[in-house]
Amino acid sequence: MSNIHELQFLKDKIQELKDQGVYRKLPVLQGASGPEVLLDGKKVINLSSNNYLGFANHPRLKAAAISAVEKYGAGSGAVRTIIGNMSIHEEMEEVLSKFKREEAAFVYQSGFNCNAGTIQAVTEAGDIIISDELNHASIIDGSRLSRADKGIYKHSDMDSLESVLKDSRDKYRNILIITDGVFSMDGDIAKLPEIVQLAEKYEAMTYVDDAHGSGVLGESGRGTVDHFGLHGRVDFTIGTLSKAIGVVGGYVAGSSTMYEWLSHRARPVLFSTSMPPAAAGAIIEAVKMLTESTEYTDRLWDNAKYFKEKMGTLGFDIGNSQTPITPVIIGDEAKTMEFSRRLLDKGVFVSGIVFPTVPKGTGRLRCMVTAGHSKEQLDKAVEAFKAVGEEMRLL
Ligand SMILES: *Cc1c(COP(=O)(O)O)cnc(C)c1O
Repeated sequence: MSNIHELQFLKDKIQELKDQGVYRKLPVLQGASGPEVLLDGKKVINLSSNNYLGFANHPRLKAAAISAVEKYGAGSGAVRTIIGNMSIHEEMEEVLSKFKREEAAFVYQSGFNCNAGTIQAVTEAGDIIISDELNHASIIDGSRLSRADKGIYKHSDMDSLESVLKDSRDKYRNILIITDGVFSMDGDIAKLPEIVQLAEKYEAMTYVDDAHGSGVLGESGRGTVDHFGLHGRVDFTIGTLSKAIGVVGGYVAGSSTMYEWLSHRARPVLFSTSMPPAAAGAIIEAVKMLTESTEYTDRLWDNAKYFKEKMGTLGFDIGNSQTPITPVIIGDEAKTMEFSRRLLDKGVFVSGIVFPTVPKGTGRLRCMVTAGHSKEQLDKAVEAFKAVGEEMRLL
């Protein structure tokens, strides 16, 4: 018998990953996130970040963070309820609710925390949560924390959603339909107008996780709800402050009743220290920049269209994305990882995404175009894809 503290059971699992060709070391970024980065000592084009608008290293956000540190310090000192709630947090929520055109916005330390906290706070035993099968892991985990029953509908399939709704209506008190606004691994947009209509027909609540829609879709990045003109018809709209906004954090926008309740019952806010003031300061500045001008989202979409068009002509399977997320679907897990390694040798970083992040057999390179990329950088990336595709006989 080996000693339990040697963790042989984990070593066995790690060996399995190696046998499957999906074992990897975490890459190390040796400077700021941007269109070109220093990665493990090498300068490469970065097509792998969620820094859609180039805000993560923007001088205005950095200056705002520094000034918040000078006024409020490096840390907030406590959870919000025992005065980790600073005036800069309140100001951030005010700015976000105005931007989202909702009564209120309630901020968490991350988008993950937002799903972990909100779903369980607004559902209970006797309710049902109905979820799209491709929803993000944080929604799945958040739903597991709730005592409500769970139902699943086929991805963006409205007949499937309606049949679950029909089945559930008389059995449950409250129904909560949850969907990603933009599906993070495929880049397709949820059929929100139809979902909202079904929700109204069956008197269900709607919950849209717009992590990849906020800062990307709608007027100056106001999100998927704005994109479809559905203000006032979605009960809970989640946004992340970690992706397009360039900092860290998550929020749920909705009614003031929702805000009141969450401030009493959202566990990640009650039991985990609030966001550092530097983050809040930078977020306020980012939202201000989006309110002032559409230049950032315009540049993002211009680059996204340019890159997609070029990639589309190469002959790869680039799925059905409707947003800057551009998946290049390879299929086989080991081949996907090899493709990523070969791209890196050519100076382009795109992380391979495989099971369990996406279903088995749908391994992909998920290209994330940002506002910060130059056309030359995008051209160089397309060339590298073509070269590796030919080397691996995939084209
Ligand atoms: C990234 C993501 C999250 C998590 O957001 P963080 O702020 O990074 O914790 C939640 N939901 C979806 C759909 C996401 O894509």
